[in-house]
Amino acid sequence: MEITPKITPIYQTSVFKFADLNELEQYFDEPGSRYLYSRNGNPNADELAEKINHLEGGVGAVVTGSGMAAIFAAILAYCQAGDHVLCAADIYGGSSALLNAELSRMGITVAYVPFEQLYDLKPLVQPTTRLLLAETMSNPLLRVADLRRLATECHAHGLKLVVDNTFASPVITRPLELGADISLHSVTKYISGHSDVTAGAVVAADPEVAARLKQISVFYGLTLSPMESWLAVRGLKTLRLRMREHSYNALVVAQFLAEHPRVRQVNYPGLESHPQHALAVEQGAGLFGGMMSFLLADDAEGVNSFMRRSQRFPFAPSLAGVDSSLSYPLGTSHRSLTAEQQQALGITVGLVRLSVGIEPVEDLLADLAQALD
Ligand SMILES: *Cc1c(COP(=O)(O)O)cnc(C)c1O
Repeated sequence: MEITPKITPIYQTSVFKFADLNELEQYFDEPGSRYLYSRNGNPNADELAEKINHLEGGVGAVVTGSGMAAIFAAILAYCQAGDHVLCAADIYGGSSALLNAELSRMGITVAYVPFEQLYDLKPLVQPTTRLLLAETMSNPLLRVADLRRLATECHAHGLKLVVDNTFASPVITRPLELGADISLHSVTKYISGHSDVTAGAVVAADPEVAARLKQISVFYGLTLSPMESWLAVRGLKTLRLRMREHSYNALVVAQFLAEHPRVRQVNYPGLESHPQHALAVEQGAGLFGGMMSFLLADDAEGVNSFMRRSQRFPFAPSLAGVDSSLSYPLGTSHRSLTAEQQQALGITVGLVRLSVGIEPVEDLLADLAQALD
């Protein structure tokens, strides 16, 4: 009987069998012809990597056990002891923690670049500086980086541009087309999309870097499991549909919040009032994603009562699932920053971040209205 499944089955195996030594030689002589051991390669992980590589327009990708592992792999692809990296000051808290607490111990030093200085790197570049790490849309203020301009600025100083494209997804922005050298993801977020997977991906624009990423993922054991890969592939199939719905709902919610008397400010790139709105339109193909933040009065009790009353936006410190949620940057992602850093980034007591899902938007508006009143 020939079994021909339409969907790739889950190859839940750590190792693959060989009939004889000739097959073993074939594995080494013809890369990609067979599988040996799942840490080195597995059909489910490879399927996910190929699909993300295709969406991002890369020449090769690896998938990893988390977004953090993806960031780690991307930095190691270019850096060794004695090297220096630049990192946008508006960055995921885990990225700065990795650089400050761990990569520093491996002799890789970091300097942070304020958003206003991203296109003037000269004063910060040292002879050992290798790359700049930045996000397409920052967390939680949704500042949009001009990736084409950033790539030009990096390359003028001999730096690589590594873009964390998690908030945008390749449906909204494709960093490699704009000149970035690596685009990476927390696949945990939009690419999987259902809050049931932890995974990461790194996509390279250059085949040598892709090979380097593969070696790093195999030697450091950053590999993603077959089951997680399979779930992420399943999620990825609806990414395009989901991003449209997330973006539609988020724009309606942002407009509602912007008019609400209790709300002092809304940070959403789809609003005309957003400082990088024009750039977001151009770089985002008219979609702005599902992430936003807004400012209530700087009063913890007010924030608490909003959280307790809201039913459709449970407090869950992650993002990008089909079900809406909210998070509190001061107490979660930006907790480990100093008070001055928090102040400088605008992470204040009243700042609430929303991850707008794909529910009927009337339900979301009704819930927000009752929670705010
Ligand atoms: C969540 C997140 C990460 C880390 O990803 P994990 O899958 O949690 O390891 C990195 N960058 C951004 C922008 C994120 O939102």
